[in-house]
Amino acid sequence: MEHVIADYHTHSTISPDAKSPMEDMCRAAVEKGLSEIVFTDHFECRAPGKAGYLFDLPYLERYFQELSRCQELFDGQLVLKRGIEMGQPNMNQEMEKAVMGAFSFDYVIGSIHKLDNVDLGNMTYTAENIGDICRENLRYLLDMAKNSVFDCMGHVDLIKRYAAKQGFSVDLMDYREELEEILRVLISRGKGMEINTSGLRQEAREALPSLSILKLYRSLGGEILTLGSDAHTTADVAAGLEDAREMALEAGFRHLALYTGHQPSFYSIA
Ligand SMILES: [Zn+2]
Ligand SMILES: [Zn+2]
Repeated sequence: MEHVIADYHTHSTISPDAKSPMEDMCRAAVEKGLSEIVFTDHFECRAPGKAGYLFDLPYLERYFQELSRCQELFDGQLVLKRGIEMGQPNMNQEMEKAVMGAFSFDYVIGSIHKLDNVDLGNMTYTAENIGDICRENLRYLLDMAKNSVFDCMGHVDLIKRYAAKQGFSVDLMDYREELEEILRVLISRGKGMEINTSGLRQEAREALPSLSILKLYRSLGGEILTLGSDAHTTADVAAGLEDAREMALEAGFRHLALYTGHQPSFYSIA
């Protein structure tokens, strides 16, 4: 890998759905030539009052313990930033406040994984309901864009990945007005977007977002962009990042963002 130095979306086994321990993920990152990685382990928010809640502050304490251990182990080889992927933080602002107040992060991804507490991956899509689900998803994205604490929006058109699994092709560009509003809010709040390469490895066969959405973001004045593999296992660390870099160049980006304490700095990919 010549130009991409960082993977800004990865999960270690701190996340309930990931397969490889942080130490192994770090080793893979070094082997693949990265100089920086962010473990954006999941923190899923739900509407308050739901039982069986997996995510709490002790969960994050485990994350930070493991992070410090790996920072020491890989000192001089790999920079490990403090990250988190907040799932629908707009659904529980009290929890969001507690998390952001208790810990300091370099980089926060704001993602929508659930609508009304139901995971997008667990929904049954039909020709009849898919338009409504897309519009509801866009409302959540807009609400999060306006109200939540994060640095970059995660996998904007994630829904297409799950819809594709059930044989439906979804393009959020079909909801241009709603999409543009979300991107304008992101830009006006100084927030960025990621190219998430997980879609390249799955049925959607394209990155999240699509090139057309990325171009729209750019044309509206979007400048802040990170690349992330969304790896949940060592094999996927840095996967697709070179493809994503080419996509970024095609959309008109010449720099990618790195974050320290929520402040972006930029490195050239041209
Ligand atoms: Zn996600
Ligand atoms: Zn993720």
